[in-house]
Amino acid sequence: MQIYDTERRAKREFTPREPGKVAMYVCGPTVYDQIHIGNGRTFVAFDAIRRYLEWTGLDVTFVQNLTDVDDKIINRAAEEGRSAAEVASDYTAAFREQMVRMGVEPPTVQPKATEEIPQMIELIEELVEKGHAYATAEGDVYFSVSSCPTYGEVSGRRVEDLLAGARVEVDEAKRESADFALWKAAKPGEPSWESPWGLGRPGWHTECVAMAKRYLGVPIDIHGGGSDLVFPHHENENAQAEAAWGTPLARLWMHSGMLRVDGEKMSKSLGNFHTLKDVLDRYPADALRLLVLQTHYRSPLDFSFERLEGARGAWERMKNTVSALLWAARDDASGHTEPRAGGVPEGEPGSAEEPTAVLASAVAEARAEFSRSMEDDFNTAGALGALFTLATRANTYLAEVADGAEPNVAREAADALVELFGVLGINVAPEKAALPAELVSLAAELADYAGSSAAEAADALIAARAKARAARDWARADAIRDRIAGLGLAVEDTPTGSRVVAREG
Ligand SMILES: [Zn+2]
Repeated sequence: MQIYDTERRAKREFTPREPGKVAMYVCGPTVYDQIHIGNGRTFVAFDAIRRYLEWTGLDVTFVQNLTDVDDKIINRAAEEGRSAAEVASDYTAAFREQMVRMGVEPPTVQPKATEEIPQMIELIEELVEKGHAYATAEGDVYFSVSSCPTYGEVSGRRVEDLLAGARVEVDEAKRESADFALWKAAKPGEPSWESPWGLGRPGWHTECVAMAKRYLGVPIDIHGGGSDLVFPHHENENAQAEAAWGTPLARLWMHSGMLRVDGEKMSKSLGNFHTLKDVLDRYPADALRLLVLQTHYRSPLDFSFERLEGARGAWERMKNTVSALLWAARDDASGHTEPRAGGVPEGEPGSAEEPTAVLASAVAEARAEFSRSMEDDFNTAGALGALFTLATRANTYLAEVADGAEPNVAREAADALVELFGVLGINVAPEKAALPAELVSLAAELADYAGSSAAEAADALIAARAKARAARDWARADAIRDRIAGLGLAVEDTPTGSRVVAREG
């Protein structure tokens, strides 16, 4: 598997530090407002990456912090006349809600900055002791950038360039302009914690380092985030790990590209700013995920509602194709014959042998191309392209063979589409309606069923029908099927058994 590493500015073979396991950390949001669709893009991109790694059998531990103490939260609280903790708690809930709606898998661990203060103080103390950080008379603590020879490696910047030209503002007590705050002395009324340097709170760059160490151990396998985090955030994170523990924070750095709206940078002043919530209130999450993943995660993503509309159309066509394939796989639709065993009947007029073989190889090709694309730095655009091609070939097949589709190959094609779109967190399976309660009385009448569960009633009816068929009592088997159909349901026969399903459409 090849992954592009920001630090080396090249793709390289990914080998986890421990075989079979991946330690992954993606910087989370500062919880002071609804997140915007640019953040949404980042979290969907890394969710697809995580899901793919898991699908290949790797055991992924995924850590994501919540920054719940920060200037932005304190300012927001002052504006709204409430506490910073209330603001943080509201927007933590809002963030989690949008992630659930977006189909993003919850992190394995999701620590909050305010609950990790002792670990951060410990790290800062270690940096001070080793001469990489210094406290000021005001009770701030700064990291000394010039004390860290590897500073600049993640972002590809040179310390000399960072130091040249910039000058320290007179009101700042730091020694050099590039030094950054590890600990900030509390101003009156701000949330604060006791520390060796007096009351204060941690700087943002320290959070992830302390949490990555605590929950994953360093160096972690993959550290990810939006490309706006490369400098200074990730550079500053890495410097602390190098200075405190003599190790890089991460073995590999991944960054997702920025999002533009209608070809422009998204900003409130341009009036093209969209929160993830606003977009999910108007469009299905699957359509938005499809739009996001049709662009490689490192490339800039062009968002527009026109493109989102297009993605919704494409997603609906995928679902229609899967439904049509599943319908074709249901041999029961064409009469009361025994379910056909696998393979194609030979010598029948209009034999579907050739198109069937073509579709079977299309399924194999799509699976291979999907994996090939994902193994190449998570090329989701290429992977999706392979699935669209399979859908097109499946539609061609269904049109060509009319009613004569071979059930097994139709099911294989449907299964491949559902499974592989699912790896990217996009659901193209037909919606399964809940089974109606009327099944219970029908099963009581036809199958001596005495319980009250619709699902069990369905199983009892399937068993009664199978028994009738085994006894070659076609009239009774048909009667059971017809009565089930009378409830708006269908009996679906699959290689692994039969089931009652809601009819699509
Ligand atoms: Zn971070």
